[in-house]
Amino acid sequence: METFDFDGRVAVVTGAGRGIGRAHALLLALRGAKVVVNDLGGNTLGEGSDTGPARSVVDEITAAGGTAVADGNDVSTPEGGQAIVDRAVTEFGRIDVLVNNAGNVRFAGIADADAALLDSVYGVHVRGSFNTVHAAWPHFVEQGYGRIVFTTSHGLFGSPDNLAYATAKAGVIGLARAIKVNAGTQDIKINLIAPAAVTRLAGKDPDGEAPPAPADMDPDLVSPMVAYLAHENCPVSGEVYAAGMGRCTR
Ligand code: ADP
Repeated sequence: METFDFDGRVAVVTGAGRGIGRAHALLLALRGAKVVVNDLGGNTLGEGSDTGPARSVVDEITAAGGTAVADGNDVSTPEGGQAIVDRAVTEFGRIDVLVNNAGNVRFAGIADADAALLDSVYGVHVRGSFNTVHAAWPHFVEQGYGRIVFTTSHGLFGSPDNLAYATAKAGVIGLARAIKVNAGTQDIKINLIAPAAVTRLAGKDPDGEAPPAPADMDPDLVSPMVAYLAHENCPVSGEVYAAGMGRCTR
């Protein structure tokens, strides 16, 4: 555990074109993992198909001596989730670590939220996390080994003006706990991180009515926790690791 060495391991990080996901991808790659850097590109609504952000993170990793490939698939579709996992297997021969970080946000409270808004946020967080895990699961079972890290935040505490996000993140907690039961006695560890409002999802309203941009934490302070939970010596499963939760009860 001392060195958090990921030599020989293959990791997928979704939504890794910027922010926290980028920091996770960089840290895992610099620790020796081969990394699939997924990001749909576009904006936080999950629109667009530009792999630009993922590609520039891959360039950063390559420049630092690491190994990574860019992937622009959409986690919210079953085909996208499957393609992301297939990418790891095709490029690097296996998948050991899946970090579900892709996310979108639509600010609204109970008076303003509607079903379409909920579906759009659920689609990325809940369905997206399910899609990638569902695709990776046969590999983990076959290997008898896997590490899954989910990202939750408002899921623990709720958030009155961010109802869809909070609800979706609570769904991610339920998903993680269900998968943990499915893992049985195999060395498949499933954990969640609950970072404080770190970057754009928390601070930028795509509709232009942004709350004050928080600057509680640097993404680089969150990623070591992911490295801990993604490491082969990770001793825990089914846990939620909080990091600077102050903004999440806002
Ligand atoms: P954070 O830093 O908190 O992870 P960001 O909004 O900066 O928040 O990052 C979330 C990332 O997830 C964005 O780069 C966004 O493009 C990506 N993303 C959003 N929807 C999808 C999707 N459906 N598939 C893949 N990536 C997505």
